[in-house]
This record gives sequence, C-alpha cells and structure tokens, in this order.
Amino acid sequence: MKAFQLKRPDQIKAHLDKYVIGQDEAKKTLSVAVYNHYKRILHRGDPERKANIDKSNILLLGPTGCGKTLLVKTIANMLGVPCYIGSATSLTASGYVGDDIESLLSGLLMNCGYDVERAQAGIVFIDEIDKIAKKDAGVSITRDVSGECVQQGLLKMIEGHRMGVQPAGGRKHPEQPLIYVDTTDILFICAGAFVGLDGIIARRTGRDQSRIGFGSGAPADGPANIFADVTPQDLRDFGLIPEFVGRLPVVSYVDPLDKDALKRILTEPKDSLVSQYTELLREDGVKLTFAPDALETAATLASETGTGARGLRSILEKAMRDVMFSAPKSAAKSGPLEIVVTREMILGTAKPVLRLSV
Ligand code: ADP
Repeated sequence: MKAFQLKRPDQIKAHLDKYVIGQDEAKKTLSVAVYNHYKRILHRGDPERKANIDKSNILLLGPTGCGKTLLVKTIANMLGVPCYIGSATSLTASGYVGDDIESLLSGLLMNCGYDVERAQAGIVFIDEIDKIAKKDAGVSITRDVSGECVQQGLLKMIEGHRMGVQPAGGRKHPEQPLIYVDTTDILFICAGAFVGLDGIIARRTGRDQSRIGFGSGAPADGPANIFADVTPQDLRDFGLIPEFVGRLPVVSYVDPLDKDALKRILTEPKDSLVSQYTELLREDGVKLTFAPDALETAATLASETGTGARGLRSILEKAMRDVMFSAPKSAAKSGPLEIVVTREMILGTAKPVLRLSV
C-alpha cells in the first residue's frame, strides 16, 4: 500500500507558490528532489527499472525566517507524509548530555501516531545543521569533537539503516523496548543559515567580498545569491565532514527576504497574517482592512529586525493587540463594526478607531 500521494515537480511547485513567496530556486530543486525520492520508493521492484536510484537527501542553505521550514512543511502536507522538524543543536552523540540522534525518529513516529510504515516514508527536517560544524575546520590540534561526533552519528541514519528508537524520545534507557525504524526511504532535509560560508565561497571564487552579504544587492561578478556557487569543498571548509556532505547530494538555498517580499508575505500567501487577522475579526462581526502604508511600514520594520518574515508576526501582534482585545466586546454591544489599521497604529503612535459599519 502506498502511504503518500505522488505529485509531479510542476504540481509540487505550483502548490508551494500558494504558500511561499519567492524562493524559486529552492522550490524547483525541492520539487524535483522530492518527486524523485518518492518515485524511487514507488517503483521499487519494478522489473523494468534498469538502475538503482540513489537517495537524494537535501541540504538547504540560507538565512533564518526566509521559508526553509515552511517549504518542507508545505510539501509534506501536500503529499500527506509525516514530517518532523528537529534541531541539530539538541542532538548529541551517545554518551553526552542531550538527546540521542534517534530522537529525530521518535519525533517522526509521534507525528504519525506510531505508524511505522508511514514514518518510514516520512520527512525529517534537521534545522541548524551548521551549528554542528567542526569549529576548527582545516588545521586541528585541539579537535572539537562534539559537532563532529553528531555528524558521524547522523551518517548511518541519513544513508538508510534499521534503527532502534526509544518511543518517547530523549535518551535510551536499557529497560525500555525499542521500536525499529528503517530509514532507507525517509527523506532527510538538513538546513542552516551557514553564516560565514559566503566568505569561503567568495575567497575561492575570487569574488569581491565587500559586495556580498545580505541586502547588498546582486553582485556584478556572479549569481545574485552567492550560495548558488557552493561546492562540496566549501561545505567541508565550513566544517561539515566529507561523509556528511556526500550524503546530502542535493544542495539548494533560500534568498534573504527584502522589503517587497515581506510586504507580499503579509497578504499574498494562503493563510497570510493579514487574512488570519481578518478572519478572526470577521467571526466577531468586525470588518478589518489595512491601509497600504500600514503594510509598507510593517514590512520596513520587519526588514530591520533581520529575522526574515518572523519579525512580521511580532510587529502585527503588537499593533493588533488593542483591537483584538476591545473589538469583540464593542461588536457584541453595537453590532457590525469596521476598522482600518493605519501606519500610525503599526508604529504604536495612534490607537485603533472602531466605526459602525454602514
Ligand atoms: P526558516 O526555516 O527559514 O528559518 P520559516 O520557514 O520557519 O523560516 O519561516 C518562519 C515563518 O515566516 C513561516 O512560518 C512563515 O509564516 C513566514 N515565512 C518565511 N518565509 C516565507 C516566504 N518566503 N513566504 C511566505 N511566508 C514566509
């Protein structure tokens, strides 16, 4: 029985376009890699198949809050496969304090009600993978073992192996029975901001380092995003061990989000923040609209925080708090109301004004 719905790359990309603004490169690369991954599973054992298809785990580079997790979650939802979002920073190789590497699989199992068959065709997203890079890539006398050990520990799992998993996650206890999960068909997507990798690429390619960095615009001497030029050697120089790099054959990147992209994110995606607030208030009998300069201001403030689209949420939460507090009561008393969110409300210099609907 197949535990997922196979979609073509163009269908996956079209679906992503509804939820994720920009990030075309990542959308295309992910669509193809995910399609191939699931096709590889679906047609296994097909007598016509002449070649064994290799697993295509993915490495996703790029700044925080720009849609890496969102892309992966959206794909998993579309295909109907379980997905677990974990962080490399909480992992330790056995013997150290922290979660065992297998806790990623416990998380996946938990997210699909311990249905091992579904978990075995799921997606595991490991964020902050750059934080387990060897600190001293290159010459090493005092070796930083912890990150390297976690990378070593992840190798078998990412490649495909039958692993004993502690059902509740955390560390292994000898007295607890293990659940066995075969990771051969689990798609692993590792992600991280990889701060400093741009410098490594720039040095290797001889690009002008003063022209790189987020927000500095497209350099004249290369692609708009320097991560487009990344090679396995750059990743090794950054501190990923060669075996680990070798198991992540598909590499892609997200772009930093500029003010225009942030403005679009407020309104365009399905489930955008603006549509969520509008919907919440509509259910109270309040018609909510945003003045164009309010959206512009929220995008400008968010771009100054340097946390990608994550900044938008906190800016709107703050600006909307008074409205969300008083509107339900006012509407209950007086009947349908309307309110326009202004630039001043976003800046916190004016209070919301609720008007009777006409
Ligand atoms: P990352 O994994 O790159 O750190 P996330 O995918 O977790 O970032 O993004 C955080 C939130 O910001 C998402 O849940 C989403 O609401 C919003 N967001 C980020 N990037 C985009 C984008 N390109 N399009 C639409 N929404 C986005």
